[in-house]
Amino acid sequence: MSIDLNSEEQAVIDQIERFSNEVLAPAAAAIDAKGQFATLHRAALAEMGITGMNLPETYGGIGLSGPALYCAVEAVAGACGSTASMLTAHFLATDSLLLGAGETLKRRFLPAAAAGEALGAFALTEPMAGSNPADMRSTATATGDGDGYRLKGSKCFISNAGDADFIVVYAKTDSTAGARGVSAFVLEPAKTDGVEIGKREETMGLRGGHVFPISFDCRVPAENRLGDEGTGFRTAMKVLDNGRIEVAAQATGIARAALGAAVSYAKEREVGGRPIGSFQGLQWMLADSATELAAARALGLQAARKRGTGERYSTDSAFAKLYASEAAWRIADRALQIHGGYGYTRDFPMERYLRDLRIFRIYEGSSEIQRTIIAREMLS
Ligand SMILES: Cc1cc2nc3c(=O)[nH]c(=O)nc-3n(C[C@H](O)[C@H](O)[C@H](O)COP(=O)(O)OP(=O)(O)OC[C@H]3O[C@@H](n4cnc5c(N)ncnc54)[C@H](O)[C@@H]3O)c2cc1C
Repeated sequence: MSIDLNSEEQAVIDQIERFSNEVLAPAAAAIDAKGQFATLHRAALAEMGITGMNLPETYGGIGLSGPALYCAVEAVAGACGSTASMLTAHFLATDSLLLGAGETLKRRFLPAAAAGEALGAFALTEPMAGSNPADMRSTATATGDGDGYRLKGSKCFISNAGDADFIVVYAKTDSTAGARGVSAFVLEPAKTDGVEIGKREETMGLRGGHVFPISFDCRVPAENRLGDEGTGFRTAMKVLDNGRIEVAAQATGIARAALGAAVSYAKEREVGGRPIGSFQGLQWMLADSATELAAARALGLQAARKRGTGERYSTDSAFAKLYASEAAWRIADRALQIHGGYGYTRDFPMERYLRDLRIFRIYEGSSEIQRTIIAREMLS
């Protein structure tokens, strides 16, 4: 499918594709098997500019946006889902600052984040507030001296939290105002007393993208607040509109890798003296997968293009995430089927692709929540 990238963007994407194939892909199976944190690639990612690829040059990034950013995330995910998940969680944190913070806070955190010197995490979900984050119970109460807040509460499933240098935490400064009472703060766990990072969750897939519960009863300086009090929820929703496009890109990246492997296997594997690709049953599977992949990419790129031009794109992000996460699952499942018994073993990446893909239908708003967003827009 043709994608309107300018020659400079295309050159960057080609470089990221090459790096992903040569450096990330060969390590992906071991990261998964050992459950090793994908941060082991942090220095190399930083050197390529990938840790700051979503940020403008003013803050040390390489300023990819729209379809170019989509293609870059897709390339990384196709090589290593865990690395992509670590990276996109970092982007949720830097995007929160970019969209919600004042200039001083941006200058304090973004250049180090872009350079890969500081890893970010995004803490919205709580044990009693996942699909409906406005139900959050964490609070931020202004201290008597007026130059800080007491941040109290807990969050769960926070990607990168165990190694994060900064965590963007969402908490209520006004518990009576629902979503309008939410504010966002930067928390530096290593420099703050009263922050506890719990035991890492054992997850089904993306095993190199580590996830932790956190709890806190600590002080944060007032200058660590992103924007005005009460603007946090709006910031989080804008961040998730972007994040959902990145989830879609991760899904199509993995689906593309699975389909590519299925096509190669269908040409090589012989049964009854014939390549299995000569059987119509498998040809139809491949055709369905290619069609769904093209449709998923078209929706993802449409949302990414609108993000780049500044048009409204919340519904497009929901279309992209919903369709890509569900289609990628079907594509990877067919790819495993085409590999027969070998697909079920760890000698091939098919089973890892499926395990890695499963979360995309749950996090950053489940499939049910994406359908709710789309229907709400249709009925408004
Ligand atoms: C590996 C992993 C990484 C994560 N990383 C992060 C992170 O970095 N930061 C962060 O803040 N969070 C993160 N999360 C949390 C994730 O976003 C939540 O798990 C997700 O939003 C769902 O919330 P929940 O688990 O509480 O499910 P619930 O909200 O309890 O939902 C349970 C079920 O009910 C359905 N449901 C809920 N409401 C509705 C409705 N209105 N209509 C129809 N169905 C509904 C859901 O779709 C789901 O099927 C992560 C989770 C995982 C597993």
